[in-house]
Amino acid sequence: MAVKGTGAYNPENIFAKILRGDIPCKKVFENEWVLAFQDIAPKAAVHVLVIPKNPYVSFIDFTKTASEAEIAGVMKAASLIASDLGLEESGYRVITNAGENSGQEVPHFHLHLLGGQPLPPFPV
Ligand code: AMP
Repeated sequence: MAVKGTGAYNPENIFAKILRGDIPCKKVFENEWVLAFQDIAPKAAVHVLVIPKNPYVSFIDFTKTASEAEIAGVMKAASLIASDLGLEESGYRVITNAGENSGQEVPHFHLHLLGGQPLPPFPV
């Protein structure tokens, strides 16, 4: 069920629970800004989710609310992870869903890193 992707942050969303350690994840990377882990239902050979450690609902919420340092930190971490996963040469896709029309399921801002195989024509 898609979420609105706007409004107040709900600390009971599944990614908040992962960040708190209440439920497990297959961690790929962590630093002061982000946690990255394998998507539980991968849509490609490589499907990693990169989430900020702080609570933001969506891309717009994140870019409006986060500090410049945090925005840079999250984006640089996603770039480093994509590079470390070997995606730079073969190619990759970075997606973020926000709100009802996008089908966003988890109301905690996240980037999908997709690759490791030829991806279907956009939109995936
Ligand atoms: P979105 O539709 O952009 O909100 O994407 C949410 C993503 O989170 C989907 O690709 C789900 O497969 C993934 N997901 C949901 N629950 C978990 C979980 N517990 N661990 C890892 N990925 C999850």
